[in-house]
Amino acid sequence: MMEFTVGKTKIRIVKGDITEQATDAIVNAANPSLMGGGGVDGAIHRKGGPKILEECKKIRKTLYPNGLPTGKAVITTGGNLKAKYVIHTVGPVWHGGTKGESELLAEAYKNSLSLAVSKGLKTIAFPSISTGAYGYPIEKASRVALKTVKEFLEKEDKLEEVVFILFSQPDLETYEKTAKEIFNL
Ligand code: ADP
Repeated sequence: MMEFTVGKTKIRIVKGDITEQATDAIVNAANPSLMGGGGVDGAIHRKGGPKILEECKKIRKTLYPNGLPTGKAVITTGGNLKAKYVIHTVGPVWHGGTKGESELLAEAYKNSLSLAVSKGLKTIAFPSISTGAYGYPIEKASRVALKTVKEFLEKEDKLEEVVFILFSQPDLETYEKTAKEIFNL
């Protein structure tokens, strides 16, 4: 576990379950359908209850009839979760790194952060987007995630806390190692 600040924002890197976080918003590593799935997505819908899916269906009917494009983000209630909101974003599927994966992953983080700020939220928790079923190598993903958050916070000081929730000890250690480099800790 690691804790440090960037400007006025506290960053925490911890091991845990994203569905247990009491931040204003938790981020879902969703897929374009917004209809649920495995991994983080499945856990969020199971624990958050049917209200989240209802709102996702509305978003599909109105804003995104063809599904949420990779890199974009939308917000719903947190339902029965401790978090008030869920920000759903779609990370890229890893295709070897030459298909714009890093830019798309950065977009997923940036758009999630911007959405949180635009809604006046103060605290947000991220899982490691794309590094499960979507196959993005964890070390490379940790660089994109942490660098994107750093660059965002250098321009924007309204967030009080950004948390990275890693599901396994090796993933946690990878993020911690990358953070030491990127934030000169
Ligand atoms: P993607 O499809 O974007 O790869 P996944 O949900 O399959 O998303 O996996 C993303 C990461 O989230 C993986 O590292 C996985 O181990 C982790 N993960 C799975 N369940 C949880 C959870 N409940 N809380 C936090 N992280 C989780």
